[in-house]
Amino acid sequence: MSLPTDAAVPGPAIARVVPEASLIDCMGGSSRWEVKVHEHGFLALLDVMPRLIPGGMTVDSAVVQAARVSYGQGTRQVHEDRGLIRYLLRHRHTTPFEMVEFKFHVAMPIFVARQWIRHRTASVNEYSARYSILPDRFYVPPLEAIRKQSASNRQGGEEVFNVLAGVGGEAPDARDELRTAEDFLAYLRDVEGYYARYLALAEKGVSRELARIGLPVNMYTEWYWKCDLHNTLRFLSLRLDLHAQAEIRAYAAAMHSLLSELIPYTLEAWRDYEWESMRLSRLEIEAVQRWRAGGSLELESSNARERAEWRAKSETLGFTDSKQTTPEGTR
Ligand SMILES: Cc1cc2nc3c(=O)[nH]c(=O)nc-3n(C[C@H](O)[C@H](O)[C@H](O)COP(=O)(O)OP(=O)(O)OC[C@H]3O[C@@H](n4cnc5c(N)ncnc54)[C@H](O)[C@@H]3O)c2cc1C
Repeated sequence: MSLPTDAAVPGPAIARVVPEASLIDCMGGSSRWEVKVHEHGFLALLDVMPRLIPGGMTVDSAVVQAARVSYGQGTRQVHEDRGLIRYLLRHRHTTPFEMVEFKFHVAMPIFVARQWIRHRTASVNEYSARYSILPDRFYVPPLEAIRKQSASNRQGGEEVFNVLAGVGGEAPDARDELRTAEDFLAYLRDVEGYYARYLALAEKGVSRELARIGLPVNMYTEWYWKCDLHNTLRFLSLRLDLHAQAEIRAYAAAMHSLLSELIPYTLEAWRDYEWESMRLSRLEIEAVQRWRAGGSLELESSNARERAEWRAKSETLGFTDSKQTTPEGTR
């Protein structure tokens, strides 16, 4: 079919179908739902596809509707919506979850944005520091939340400096910890000091695109982030996980809260089959089989990390093995 070249030429007739049930705005008429994150950040939900949903239903219904295109009407009697969503997630039938989309407005430190941008399956539109001066917002963790480098995990830091004990000034170790944590905050304040020079140099005519390059990564940036539900669940799984950095975890937690009333069945199924589930490798299944036959529960792997991960999993499952060894010896 060719496009009409003359505005007077009528196009094909468009059938405008009235919905079977009356539709409601899933965001209740709000322009944004916003959650504050840290002192200067926020995560705001701006839009949802579908924004209009049948009254009395949730956005989960769009997943169900998409799935029924592939399964046909016949399944309607067999599956309830909740059951169908659970079936889809359990069996990784993911495309119906791509039919729902969320658009967020996020203000986050640049170091968080660097981790976030790795999720390539979203569409992003970021504030440009080539066009505009960056506002003076800096992420500074509270003194009592400054984390130490973990000895076991090179990427992580979970334990905080013992600053409260240091305030009393009793134990020398605690005093050192307080001093180190305070020194870290002083270092961040020094770095913040460069902001005034950035402003001054931009004022004197240095291009904004160059003036910004001396700014620290604890400054805030902003973007619009649009992602489908399938990949949003993936983002939540990766960034709510304790292996993710605490600062991005705070945003993932905010995202989970914002979505909880929109997609309750999907989040429930995600929690049951993904978030709080556990995958067993072939070696792990063999370890269970050996253990059930009276042998050791120890994983037959030369990789110490893999063995430690299996120990954590088997403890969660309540399996105990008197023959199992720890790095320190047999327990
Ligand atoms: C705790 C943690 C530590 C990390 N550490 C590091 C690190 O040290 N260094 C580092 O570089 N990154 C690191 N990352 C980032 C990580 O490797 C991923 O890039 C990030 O988590 C995004 O995941 P993703 O690729 O699954 O997401 P998305 O980019 O959203 O992709 C979703 C899925 O789409 C598919 N997909 C997307 N793009 C492609 C493609 N081009 N080709 C084929 N399939 C594609 C894949 O199946 C992918 O899983 C870390 C992430 C976490 C959570």
